[in-house]
Amino acid sequence: AKRSGRGTYRFFVDAMAEQSRSRRLLEEDLRRALSRGEFALHYQPFVDLATGGVRGVEALIRWFHPRRGLISPAEFIPVAEECGLIDPIGDWVIQEAVTAARKLPRHMTVAINLSPIQLKRPGFTLGVIHALGDSGLSPERLEFEITETALLNQDGSILAALGQLRDLGIRISLDDFGTGYSSLSYLRSFPIDKIKIDRSFVADLVDSTDSAAIVRAVVGLGHDLGIETTAEGVETSDQAVMLTAMGCTAGQGYLYARPAPIDDIIASLTTRYPT
Ligand code: C2E
Ligand code: CA
Ligand code: CA
Ligand code: CA
Repeated sequence: AKRSGRGTYRFFVDAMAEQSRSRRLLEEDLRRALSRGEFALHYQPFVDLATGGVRGVEALIRWFHPRRGLISPAEFIPVAEECGLIDPIGDWVIQEAVTAARKLPRHMTVAINLSPIQLKRPGFTLGVIHALGDSGLSPERLEFEITETALLNQDGSILAALGQLRDLGIRISLDDFGTGYSSLSYLRSFPIDKIKIDRSFVADLVDSTDSAAIVRAVVGLGHDLGIETTAEGVETSDQAVMLTAMGCTAGQGYLYARPAPIDDIIASLTTRYPT
């Protein structure tokens, strides 16, 4: 028993050493990724459920690592947040996305994911104003997505920054809604224009009456509070039919389109909605 105990211990020590080594390597590579042009943005449309028309697109970052290939933002964004790289990467995302948005039809918005760290940086709002000025995109066509977990236990600086952005006419979305804590209180204390219902609820929608009840309640709450609702991760037409019947504003997911470079999205818009 003693030996197997020690063996297990050794296993964990080795595993942890390996983990911190690969983490250090990832961090080093991440430091060079921006200047080496290894990032790209893909865009995923979101669709008006009542009309089927594309309302806008969400920018999603992609990292093409020279050796490892494509690395998911779910893996490297948390690393970037911890090692202070989220600000330069986030600035690049904003610059790139507002420029790309100029290529879209004027009624469409572009949504950008934000880390709470970006919102806490003094001067963030000013940077956004400059990016909008340089690109000529009007603030009404820009949306920022922030997760409810990001709002947890924050000082007033995030609330103040969100208020400033909203005063400019930029829209604020609450991302991954339903996965964090005390979601409902955020709707009262933060200036929110849109709720994005987390994909996990949408995935269960057809088979789970509980998930269906939650989604219906969130959509109803949105209606009453004047907040739009977007369902994430819509993959089947059954899900879309249910969401439409519930009065959900918009849907986003593989059923409509996968994330793709902006020119591919624009090409698909003109074939699907010829002018
Ligand atoms: P998110 O903001 O919740 O983005 C939605 C994720 O779901 C994206 O993953 C998207 O590709 C994926 N998705 C979309 N439709 C479907 C579907 O029908 N089924 C399934 N299974 N998945 C779908 P992605 O692109 O890997 O991004 C993961 C997360 O990384 C994002 O989650 C967001 O939190 C973060 N992220 C992405 N880009 C940025 C960025 O520029 N800045 C920051 N701070 N975070 C980002
Ligand atoms: Ca998002
Ligand atoms: Ca989300
Ligand atoms: Ca997410």
